[in-house]
Amino acid sequence: MGGTDPDLPDGVHLTAVDDLFAWGKEHSLFYLLFATACCGIELMQTGGPRYDVDRLGMIPRATPRQADLMIIAGTITHKMASRVRTLWEQMTEPRWVVSMGACANSGGPFSKASYSVLNGVDKVIPVDVYIPGCPPRPEALIDGVMVLRERVRRYRTLGLRDRDPQVIAGADDDFGTHPGKA
Ligand code: SF4
Repeated sequence: MGGTDPDLPDGVHLTAVDDLFAWGKEHSLFYLLFATACCGIELMQTGGPRYDVDRLGMIPRATPRQADLMIIAGTITHKMASRVRTLWEQMTEPRWVVSMGACANSGGPFSKASYSVLNGVDKVIPVDVYIPGCPPRPEALIDGVMVLRERVRRYRTLGLRDRDPQVIAGADDDFGTHPGKA
């Protein structure tokens, strides 16, 4: 971020305001307090004292109007899908979405067996990062957040939004991790 001018006194650093805002945005993702099934337990654990995502500037918010990150943690039923869409529309722009776990990614173990489960939350909202697993551990979620932060930085500094979703590798997923994979 920026550069140092040798003519400036010690401790004075020049940078562009855009760069400063980009840095701040990347390090202050406020996520919506929202979970629909068992992956939510891992999300809660990630916010707890052992993993402590507050240290990454991630603060949970109880209203979508103060959140710019939605972490889909759990199964989304057809009945819930319109509520998810409404919450997403109420979030601040630019808003970001992480799909956490097999159910959110593709319907998971219910994709074939249940008439009521949506086969992937990306049917109703755009997803930036997919995290495989059933459930993904907190380490996997933090890994996904790190990838998302890189995308936020690129968006802020270059004004570009990479529309290709990113799949976090490294976790076994028996139920499919990507919408293209049933
Ligand atoms: S992916 Fe597994 S742990 Fe997560 S909501 Fe679905 S069944 Fe539960």
